[in-house]
Amino acid sequence: MSFSTALVWLDHDLRLVDNPALYHAAEQAQVVAPVFIWAPEEYGAYPPGGASKVWLHHSLLAFQAQLNKLNIQLTIRKGPSLELLLELAQSLNVEAVYWNSRYTPVLRARDEKIKEALQAAGIRVHTFAAHLLHEPPRLRTQSGGPYHVFTPFWKKFQRTVSVSAPLPQAPLSGVHRPSPQTSSLPVSELGLSALAQSGVDWASSIRKDWTIGEQAAQERLAQFIKTHAEAYALQRNYPHQEGTSRLSPHLHFGELSPRQVWHALSRSLPSDIAEPFLRQLAWREFSYHLLYHYPDTPHAPLKSKFAAFPWTSDPEPLHRWQKGKTGYPIIDAGMRQLWQTGWMHNRVRMLVASFLTKDLMIPWQEGAAWFWDTLVDANLANNTMGWQWAAGSGADAQPFFRIFNPVSQSERYDPEGAFIKRFVPALAALPASFIHAPWTAPPAVLKEAGVRLGNNYPHPMVTHEKARERALRAYRSLT
Ligand SMILES: Cc1cc2nc3c(=O)[nH]c(=O)nc-3n(C[C@H](O)[C@H](O)[C@H](O)COP(=O)(O)OP(=O)(O)OC[C@H]3O[C@@H](n4cnc5c(N)ncnc54)[C@H](O)[C@@H]3O)c2cc1C
Repeated sequence: MSFSTALVWLDHDLRLVDNPALYHAAEQAQVVAPVFIWAPEEYGAYPPGGASKVWLHHSLLAFQAQLNKLNIQLTIRKGPSLELLLELAQSLNVEAVYWNSRYTPVLRARDEKIKEALQAAGIRVHTFAAHLLHEPPRLRTQSGGPYHVFTPFWKKFQRTVSVSAPLPQAPLSGVHRPSPQTSSLPVSELGLSALAQSGVDWASSIRKDWTIGEQAAQERLAQFIKTHAEAYALQRNYPHQEGTSRLSPHLHFGELSPRQVWHALSRSLPSDIAEPFLRQLAWREFSYHLLYHYPDTPHAPLKSKFAAFPWTSDPEPLHRWQKGKTGYPIIDAGMRQLWQTGWMHNRVRMLVASFLTKDLMIPWQEGAAWFWDTLVDANLANNTMGWQWAAGSGADAQPFFRIFNPVSQSERYDPEGAFIKRFVPALAALPASFIHAPWTAPPAVLKEAGVRLGNNYPHPMVTHEKARERALRAYRSLT
């Protein structure tokens, strides 16, 4: 008896539920062969960074275990995607290849070529929209161009995009579905784990902080809805609270689809309470909209006048920022949170990005590169938009002259210093009135708290007020 066989080419969609490529392949073909291909050189200048690779390692293991329970093999290969897809298609006698669309410029171009080559070889290709709530070229301004400002984009999105309901789990099990056995690499052979990358297990604290995989993603979503979603608008700016969902890496790796999140929130909360959270999901859509229309923005400023900005290029201050040794506690807490957990709270991302680009006048691309390597949710669309927003050079950006004061922001969003105390333990015994700016504390208070400035905690590396003036002068030189 012969079966029709479908190959499902998986990537950032390691889930069984609401996975259109997997679902439709399982509906159409008797035999489904899911394949993951590790081909970092195909990502152009942006292959996944260190923390992303660690996440991917565990995400693949979790997904493989889910498939194994259904007696399905996840074929894992390493090498040029087209070559491997053609080889698998031939050896399994595949009629069609299914995948969910990818949206970064380099992968879009690659996938288009692969589609043509497969079709030329007589293999059908089916692609699906799954990673976003809308297709990036779809929304246009009245004059037909892309949006540069979020609010009208969001209004148009609300008016015209109807987010379809998520699909159920792909119907993969059943007696008539023998899983084809193909040669496959163990996940450990891909070199993604921290040990494989550097010989040092630098990621143990990241692993401790997260549970990776589809089941964990669904549990996190359910938990967020039960405990924090209702107060999201009030709590989302306070980094010491569990006020946000922390779904970003799960969304990035496709352990959860944005449709699942959108519908779960919309179902569980009155629309006015759900709206602030749905709006954040729409920022994610906006970032893909921008990346689609402005594919050079991961490295070039959207506002071209910023190309002439007189950035500084000294590596030492960059290094201090990266290591969380600037002497500004909220900045250092954020950078240490990033290093320890692979994630940083959004409010603090905004503050550290402002500090790097404005107080230190270091190019935003340096900050984006560090985030790229250290964030578990590192994502070309969101990271680019976030950094260009902070530097003032992007769409709907924070105007350059609006420069965050790291002390008053800290007082406002971490009033008791709980976030600082967690990530900068050397300051833990300082009273709240001094923890945001330890250099203002009288010597006796510092002594009592065990803080030795310049010894166990640095002096501030710049004076914010002076740095602000310098940045504004540089900005004025542009106009
Ligand atoms: C300089 C800078 C760099 C950033 N880099 C990234 C990145 O590489 N990857 C990334 O996913 N996000 C990035 N962000 C956006 C944001 O900080 C994170 O999405 C958010 O902190 C993730 O936490 P959460 O899941 O708890 O968010 P929640 O507040 O619970 O929001 C839910 C989801 O909405 C989306 N979202 C929320 N805020 C934003 C935003 N401002 N822009 C786009 N999408 C958003 C995310 O997918 C998030 O998971 C960056 C922001 C800045 C300022």
